[in-house]
Order: sequence, then structure tokens, then C-alpha cells
Amino acid sequence: MKIQQLDLKAQLIGIREELVKAIIEVVDSTQYIMGPQVVELEKQTAAYCGMKFGIGVASGTDALLVSLMALDVGPDDIVLTTPYSFFATAGVVSRCNAKPIFADIDADSYNLDPTATRRVLESLKSTDRKRVKVLLPVHLYGQSADMWPLMEIAEDFDLAVIEDGAQAIGAKYDYNGKPVKVGSIGLAGCFSFFPSKNLGGLGDGGIVVTNDEKFADQVRILRVHGARPKYYHSFIGGNFRLDTLQAAALLVKLPRLDNWHLGRQARAAYYDQHLAGIPGLKLPKVVFKREYHIYNQYIISVDKRDELQKHLDEKGISTAIYYPVPFHLQPCFQYLGYKQGDFPASEYAANHTLALPIYPELTGEQQDYVITAVREFLNA
Ligand SMILES: *Cc1c(COP(=O)(O)O)cnc(C)c1O
Repeated sequence: MKIQQLDLKAQLIGIREELVKAIIEVVDSTQYIMGPQVVELEKQTAAYCGMKFGIGVASGTDALLVSLMALDVGPDDIVLTTPYSFFATAGVVSRCNAKPIFADIDADSYNLDPTATRRVLESLKSTDRKRVKVLLPVHLYGQSADMWPLMEIAEDFDLAVIEDGAQAIGAKYDYNGKPVKVGSIGLAGCFSFFPSKNLGGLGDGGIVVTNDEKFADQVRILRVHGARPKYYHSFIGGNFRLDTLQAAALLVKLPRLDNWHLGRQARAAYYDQHLAGIPGLKLPKVVFKREYHIYNQYIISVDKRDELQKHLDEKGISTAIYYPVPFHLQPCFQYLGYKQGDFPASEYAANHTLALPIYPELTGEQQDYVITAVREFLNA
């Protein structure tokens, strides 16, 4: 049996005709830049997240970058984020010539640990503390970070909160006693439509959602090189536009997203049930509620991670390591002066976690095959 970590062909079967029709409509319309599908997708995605404004952009990376640019983050500023995420989360901070600093993750959720976050802020010299402008939590693997204490910290230290929801569109969190979607708690939420995300396009894409009209407007201006009206530039932005073709494809997929989340949650529950209680195997923790976690990834943690990956590969099961090197140990961030041992939970995760195959179309037979192979390796 061959099992991919993510099989997009399985998803394509059910939607191919609709997708092709939507694409041909764009082709025939010739409105390839900022066509009506972009506006419609922005409207629908903002509504899906419970937000007023959506601004489509070219990638999740650009969603983060343009959000920081809209806050005028620059060389005098510091952005506090997690050391354990996809590179873009910290890369965009440096691209604004600002300084990224890190606080460790919580070992069970893999998300920014609020206690560690507060400790890092309190340990800064007061001159540096005043420079911290943005808190950038990530909702890793599809589960919300613990936003309530993080928002308290943001309030105490006067930080704007930009949520990196690239892996978590539709994930929920109980905020102020009611379930809300991630990306709706801070000033803005940033999402990615990279094909491997739960809502993936036919290429790159992303979106910023917010309730703040001024912020939305600034993102919209920066998306087109800071021009308004066209060819008159009050700001220096970039070309951050979302293609009409991508918006058209995403409009086919968005109405199916919640159903796909259900499929992933059911598969995660099945893994949980059949892999529970094995010594040396840590399963992903449901920190809040199962139905709040959208399982962009199903992450296990084991001692002999690389050997397990090899074993599964020999059985035809592909897995992935997200992520092998935390930010503070990346060559490009050497200049920040961190060292091995600074963020033990992140370093531990980087050395022990493995993403098993998960997607809504994964069959029971395939899952049983994965479960048997994992058990075999662990003699369980
Ligand atoms: C995918 C991802 C991004 C970047 O999104 P792209 O669309 O690939 O640019 C940013 N942050 C996280 C956590 C991601 O998983």
C-alpha cells in the first residue's frame, strides 16, 4: 500500500468539474487581476471568520508581511513570536528590518506559552521593552494558541496582536465565554491558501481578515504598491494581490471546508483511539475541544523519530517533519544571538515530532495500515 502524507488527488475527484468550470469562467472573462471572484472570496472568507473585512493577498507570507507593514513595523521595532513554526512567521519580521524575538512553546500544544511569553517581556531592558510592538502568535497544526492570556499580555505591554492562522482557518477558541474563529481575536488574522492547508488553492494565495477599518484600508493600499489613486504613492507597498484564478478555485472549496474539517477530526479521533496508551508515543493533545481543532496536521512525538519515519517510508507511508530546526538555531538568525538550549520545548519538538498522513479522504483501511506500522515499530 502507498499512503501519502496528503493526497490532493483524493480531494480533486469530488470537485474537479466545478473547479474546471470556475477556472474557464475566469479565462473567458479576461479579468485576471482583481476580478469579481477576489471581492467575493474576501467577503465570504471574512464572514466565515466572523470578521468585517477580508483582503486577498498573494500568499500567507504576504498576509503576514503586509500586516506588519500596515503597522509600520520597522528597524526600531521588535516582534515577539514563537521559535517553532514555518519560516515565514519570523522571516517577515526581518524583512521589515525589525527584530524578531522568541518565547518558548508549550510542550503539549506546540503553541506559544503565555507564561514564557510574559517572562521574556519582563526580562527585557526597559528600552527594549518599549520597542516591542507586535505579538505574533501562531495557531500551529490547526489548533488555536491560548489567546486569552496572550491578549492580556498584549494589553499589559501595549502590543498589537497579529494572528498567524495559516494552518488553522476555521479553528475555534472560547474567547470571553463564546466560541470564535482564530484570526478574529487580535487586530488581524493571516491565512494561507497554500495547497497543503485545509483551504488550499491551485497555487499560492492568502488573506488578511480584520474588523479594523483603518487597518484594512492600509493593507489594501499596500497591496498595490501603496498607491491611491493609481500611480500616486503615499506609501511604499508591494504587489501582494491574490489572482482571480485562485479566488475562483477557492470559492468552489470554501463551502466544503467545514465538512473537510469534520473528516479530519474523525480521522484524528480514530488515530487517538488506536494509538492510545503506547509507551514512548505521545499523541497530539486536544487542548480545548476536538471540534475546535482542524487538524491541518496530526503530530505524534517519539524518541526514535527519524527511525520511525524510515520504517514508515519502507512500508510506503509518507510522513513529514514540521519543523526540524527552530528559528533560534537557523543560520540566518545567528545574528540574534540565541543558542542551543534557549528554548527547550521547541528544540525537543523539532527533534521528536512527526506528521502522520491526515486528510478527509483517508480511508479506514489506510489508517489501519498506518496504525499497524506505527505499532510494529514500537513493539506495541
Ligand atoms: C504556510 C504557512 C505560512 C506561509 O504561508 P504561504 O502561503 O506558504 O506563504 C505562514 N505561517 C505558517 C504557520 C504556515 O504554516
